[in-house]
Amino acid sequence: MQDNRITVVYGERPDEMTLSLLNAVNLRDDIPANARIGIKPNLVNPTPPEHGATTHGGIVETLIVYLQKEGFKDITILEGAWTGASTKEAFKKLGFEDMAKKYGVRLIDTKTDEFLMKEYGGIEIEISKTALELDYLIDIPVLKGHCQTLITGALKNMKGIISDREKRRFHSLGLHKPIAILNKIIKADFCIVDGICGDLDFEEGGNPVRMNRMFCCKDPVLTDSYIANLMGYDPEEISYIKLSAELGVGSDEIEKAEITELNRTETKTTPSPSRIVQELAKVVKEKDSCSSCYANLIQALMRLRDSGEITKFENNNIAIGQGYRGQTLSCPGIGNCTALFTSHVSGCPARTMDILEYLKDY
Ligand code: SF4
Repeated sequence: MQDNRITVVYGERPDEMTLSLLNAVNLRDDIPANARIGIKPNLVNPTPPEHGATTHGGIVETLIVYLQKEGFKDITILEGAWTGASTKEAFKKLGFEDMAKKYGVRLIDTKTDEFLMKEYGGIEIEISKTALELDYLIDIPVLKGHCQTLITGALKNMKGIISDREKRRFHSLGLHKPIAILNKIIKADFCIVDGICGDLDFEEGGNPVRMNRMFCCKDPVLTDSYIANLMGYDPEEISYIKLSAELGVGSDEIEKAEITELNRTETKTTPSPSRIVQELAKVVKEKDSCSSCYANLIQALMRLRDSGEITKFENNNIAIGQGYRGQTLSCPGIGNCTALFTSHVSGCPARTMDILEYLKDY
């Protein structure tokens, strides 16, 4: 399969759309015989895909049926929800537990897997043993935005195969570089992007935007470059895409992609993210915060904006992140990392409602 090929399908039925993509690219020809195949959806939290955060189960189910029909027997679904959420709850609520039983495939919560340390460029990363033992990895991210990295796609979806401890450390290392290195160590072999109704601002969903599309591509860097483009960004603006391309994980030269659309639709444009996050983030001074904690703060700030109370906070006034550990500042602090501040809201991650109450009373 050509690395620079992007195949797009429009519609509202994840099962039909998935099958069209798989048949169009002849996925079976790309997978070695008897391969141990891994399927990595995005189940960041236990919310239904209609909320804009998680992969539609119909995509994974259609893929399993396709692979089994083609004679592939060793199939594993693997995922680790973000810190503070339960993967098992997501597996159960979103139908993955039943799906695994029905088709006799393995279901691995990477949070409780064994981990192996792998190193590249002087950075060691603790990665799921199951993921490292696979022969062929199929990455199924949701086309959505992220309040820190602007977009999240195939490259960042790989964070689901590292431990929670490592997820926190990724944020202390600035997120972009470790994401690129993780993908240098273990790279997806094929990506299917669920762009049916992603949230263009928040990785945890809640503001879904119907886009009615899916696409697939062999190269995860090109996959994310295309997502960036669809959301109105230059791939160069997303540091982890640029760094991954520099490390040779794949290509960010979207202009060289060969894009094939399998059908036509009336609703082809992808709405841009509202950029509301960047606006809200002006009152935040962030130093290496974890996604879940930061997203909860942004959600609380949205509510404060709605009630007009955000105006009492000045630019760069609210502190969040691991970079504040041990510091004794007098500004508002979010999360246990700011426990030594004059005042702070506790939690790791801090909960949206607790942050909201704390900031309202501040
Ligand atoms: S308090 Fe927040 S930023 Fe600090 S480690 Fe916990 S989740 Fe991460």
